Amino acid sequence: METNASGTAGKPIKCRAAVCRRAGEPLVMEEIQVEPPKAWEVRIKIVCTSICHTDVTFWKMDSGPFAVFPRILGHEAVGVVESVGEEVEEVKAGDTVLPVFWSNCEKCRHCESSRGNNCSVFANRPLGPGMPRDGTTRFSAAKDGEAIHHFLGVSSFCEYTVVDVVHVVKISSPIPVDRACLLSCGVSTGVGGAWKVADIEQGSSVVIFGLGVVGLAVAEGARLRGASKIVGVDLNPDKFEIGKKFGVTNFVNPEACGERPVSEVIKEITDGGADYSFECVGLASVMADAFNSSREGGGKTVILGVESRGAPLSLGSYEILRGRTVVGSYFGGLKPKSDVPLLAQKYLDQELNLDDFITQEVSFQDINTAFDLLLQGKSLRCIIWMDR
Ligand code: NAD
Ligand code: ZN
Repeated sequence: METNASGTAGKPIKCRAAVCRRAGEPLVMEEIQVEPPKAWEVRIKIVCTSICHTDVTFWKMDSGPFAVFPRILGHEAVGVVESVGEEVEEVKAGDTVLPVFWSNCEKCRHCESSRGNNCSVFANRPLGPGMPRDGTTRFSAAKDGEAIHHFLGVSSFCEYTVVDVVHVVKISSPIPVDRACLLSCGVSTGVGGAWKVADIEQGSSVVIFGLGVVGLAVAEGARLRGASKIVGVDLNPDKFEIGKKFGVTNFVNPEACGERPVSEVIKEITDGGADYSFECVGLASVMADAFNSSREGGGKTVILGVESRGAPLSLGSYEILRGRTVVGSYFGGLKPKSDVPLLAQKYLDQELNLDDFITQEVSFQDINTAFDLLLQGKSLRCIIWMDR
């Protein structure tokens, strides 16, 4: 059997987890047991984690097939490999890794293609309550053995987690761990959306609905590509000042547009409609606004927000005939294993701004404070340290 420095390999580990027991209620700090990794799995000691809006969406979900509790949420994190199961050769105990919710098997038709990032290794995406390969759980309550469910194939709101190797990215560069943590989901999604999905070119006009981390990372990607106008749309006026750090040039608050549809205001600012329009909120109505703000004859709308119930989109068919396109993407069209290390290098080369995405830090026991800060619009990313 594989050994590791701490002598824990092959044995269950007891540790702390912030468990979501009921929709919308504060997470509960509990002692849990984490089983050793099975074949193709990696057990990771989490170093730090942060909260993405997708965690909030599933934390609030009180009905339907994805409302499963008790569950360990969290999918933006950095950790160190504690031990690996059979068949895992890519990483070993002691390696620094990012767990990522989007799989990258590097063998399927999609992973081998240069188009898109829709890895098809698992028939069902890891939205279910168990591990993606066999559907079972590696977590249980220490006091009574009750099964605790996984989330998005990651579950990072705990000191140790088990992740399938296709959801693991090895970090070999000297990027600080808290900066790397941002690349585990939100920032990669936004920058990838700007670079891979939209492929923004110099001089373009861009509009971004929702200036959270995903939207601001789109702005950062657009800024680096030389966009001439980057319009941010948000209900929270504080986001304009923050947005300027990432290249946002104009700000629109839909609530201050009076009777005028927000798309009319955007068309005026962008001289007929934006070349690239991004939805980073997760509401079907805002997706339609983003589409209506795009330019006739070539305008492209990129949907990155996750609609909690998957509501259908309503778009005027004549408007599509006018030469506009709509495309959506998970993880910004990036292939985690090959593209995330490139973003880390761009940070080390002082091109990509990651520092300004970190607005607060808390220790693990204060994780509910980090939730409150995000919900109150007072935080971009609050780094949650497991050992501080
Ligand atoms: P966030 O909570 O940090 O930011 C959301 C922003 O949207 C806030 O600034 C909020 O004020 C603003 N907003 C809310 N309602 C609005 C409205 N009606 N009009 C304009 N602005 C509005 O969220 P985040 O972490 O940046 O995530 C944003 C979205 O992206 C979420 O839906 C999340 O689930 C999704 N997401 C998708 C992927 C992916 O792979 N596609 C990855 C990460 C996150
Ligand atoms: Zn996320």
